[in-house]
Amino acid sequence: MDATADVFGSFEFLKLKSYSPPSWASHLHPLPTHFFSLGHLPTPIHRWNLPNLPRNTQLWLKRDDLSGMQLSGNKVRKLEFLMADAVAQGADCVITIGGIQSNHCRATAVAARYLNLDSYLILRTSKVNVDKDPGLTGNLLVERLVGAHVDLVSKEEYAKIGSVALTEMLKKKLLREGRKPYVIPVGGSNSIGAWGYIEAIREIEKQVVSESGSVGIDDIVVACGSGGTIAGLSVASLLSKLKAKVHAYCVCDTPDYFYDFTQGLLDGIQAGVSARDIVSILDAKGNGYAMSTSDELKFIKDVATATGVILDPVYSGKAAYAMMKDMTDNPGKWEGRKVLFIHTGGLLGMYDKVDQLTPLAGNWRQMELDESVPRLDGIGKMF
Ligand SMILES: *Cc1c(COP(=O)(O)O)cnc(C)c1O
Repeated sequence: MDATADVFGSFEFLKLKSYSPPSWASHLHPLPTHFFSLGHLPTPIHRWNLPNLPRNTQLWLKRDDLSGMQLSGNKVRKLEFLMADAVAQGADCVITIGGIQSNHCRATAVAARYLNLDSYLILRTSKVNVDKDPGLTGNLLVERLVGAHVDLVSKEEYAKIGSVALTEMLKKKLLREGRKPYVIPVGGSNSIGAWGYIEAIREIEKQVVSESGSVGIDDIVVACGSGGTIAGLSVASLLSKLKAKVHAYCVCDTPDYFYDFTQGLLDGIQAGVSARDIVSILDAKGNGYAMSTSDELKFIKDVATATGVILDPVYSGKAAYAMMKDMTDNPGKWEGRKVLFIHTGGLLGMYDKVDQLTPLAGNWRQMELDESVPRLDGIGKMF
């Protein structure tokens, strides 16, 4: 063994590793065989003292927003399994699809680059912007710096054709060009991606179950946008020691849509459970997907000012806003409970809201200078 291998051999990041499931999940099928270590895991859990919690409600925060920098948020956990599958299938590039500020597309572009695969992103934007340079705001900055290929489609085209046919169309084109593409669905939400949040429950179990077996949480609260996160969380919470009740706040479509979609993912791993029995899905869509009300943004600003935690406008901000509304309207449901909110990331999406955020931003002023103040730095170091 050479000296470099000796020194660096123990680092796990970006390595392909063989996978063995938690014992309580070993009956699920199919079981992944490998995963890439992509996330900075375990992510921390800490107390989150939001103002106006119901009496004796303890709120904790699982910081999946800290799962990485460019590779931040919940999508990293899914990509650990999806990327391993892509490589196992001999892919030389990945295709995925989402909204113009998709965190999933950004995470996929970065993960692909790290693993030496090209990425092709189909991004949905407004009709007026579909033929214009999409710029470098938020997630686009990262995607474009890492060299993702971006195809824009209008919302109307997306609604008409659908994500499956759009990705298939691009796949066929790339196959004709001699490439070996691997398609990752919207949000990385399929039965393979769901394993990322089965693993997250193993991680949480280690963090909150004491040696005597007493469990530190009663409820898990999370945003839902494409369903993969809640599919993994809810089945694994049931099977593990946690048995925490999972509350999902959906930010697009409807709860009925997500019960059906989640059921499909659960059937895809032969979980043998009913989605409606194991997760409660509530609406938090507000004005619509990726559209923020001024109340939601004010809430995000107030939470940041009160606790230092920055939520995101599209997912965790709406979920936390709706959770607090429910806690206010139905305090009896939450009193005395220990609640774990999963912060799924999305900070880069805030850059897309700067116009709406400007009136809420903190104070600034030109510094008042006292003419008589003597210079204390050494001469010659002007800046
Ligand atoms: C994608 C996403 C979600 C929703 O997760 P799904 O598995 O798609 O339901 C939540 N929060 C953030 C920040 C996301 O990017």
